[in-house]
Amino acid sequence: MFPQKSHYFHAGRQDSRRQQNERRRHRHHLPSTVEHTVTPLQHLLTPTDTQTVDLSTFSTPTVTPTSTYIQTIASVCTQTVQPIFTPIVTPVTSLPTYTRRPADVVRFVCISDTHNRTDCLHYSIPDGDVLLHGGDFTIRGDPHNAHVFNQWLGRLPHKYKVVIAGNHEELFDKNFYPVPADPKKVLSNAIYLQDQYTSVYGIKIYGAPWTPRHYRSAFQLPRGEQCWKKWSLIPEDTDILLTHGPPWGQGDITKKSQHGGCEELLAIVQDKVKPKYHVFGHIHEGYGVTHDGTTFFINAALCNNRYLPVNRPIVFDMPLPRGYTKK
Ligand code: MN
Ligand code: MN
Repeated sequence: MFPQKSHYFHAGRQDSRRQQNERRRHRHHLPSTVEHTVTPLQHLLTPTDTQTVDLSTFSTPTVTPTSTYIQTIASVCTQTVQPIFTPIVTPVTSLPTYTRRPADVVRFVCISDTHNRTDCLHYSIPDGDVLLHGGDFTIRGDPHNAHVFNQWLGRLPHKYKVVIAGNHEELFDKNFYPVPADPKKVLSNAIYLQDQYTSVYGIKIYGAPWTPRHYRSAFQLPRGEQCWKKWSLIPEDTDILLTHGPPWGQGDITKKSQHGGCEELLAIVQDKVKPKYHVFGHIHEGYGVTHDGTTFFINAALCNNRYLPVNRPIVFDMPLPRGYTKK
């Protein structure tokens, strides 16, 4: 059931941004003033100052890929223990760092928001069993760029590549193309999910492209009931949730220091689905990992605000479910 409109529903109300924020705070029991710490993660993982970096420096890999390029959640978390909002986010416990890939775990490599930049990454994508891409692999939804992305996917070693669309993938949206491209054909090297799930090694992954409307772009919906209806489709036994945008309060702080995430998504994730991992991108500034005591929230946007691919993939391992092998 969608929550009572008076508390939750935006449609039809012409509230100011301030009033909306007040109601969000009320809904999530947040204090009226909040302090948020700018995570040092981006700085630590950026090879050079992102303000002065020249894209041409990314064209030639200067370092051969080694295991040190695998940013496991463990190593990321030791750098991002600062909670953004104490009421929602609790620090992630550090785990031992390792680079081996044991036979009894499934390794997931999370990336998002590559925006046509896969040819100028300054590192190799870490190997793993499953690649997860959270959408925005193009800049303007150009079919040729999507084709190039699919070819790039085909060269990666991961056995499974699970991909969703983002708001930049206009080629798949009938509001932009009278005859939209067929994602399953364009992304022939991937498992494409749109309000669907797939199971790999017995682990259930659900994918959806929707984000709250910000400006005219693909797969966007007005905040409120329409978002709620989409998120209500997520099965409760989802292990890994892959959405293009973040939920409200997790990896969603924009450059204007505002929350860009979806409240309805947060409510469904925390109250109903409770996945082990929630992977997304969209808010490039929100790159990093947070944890709420139940779910790891992974903003895997590789590009920064200037569409430079400065962030590294984020890797996590899950135990191989009983009865499954990787053979
Ligand atoms: Mn993006
Ligand atoms: Mn986006």
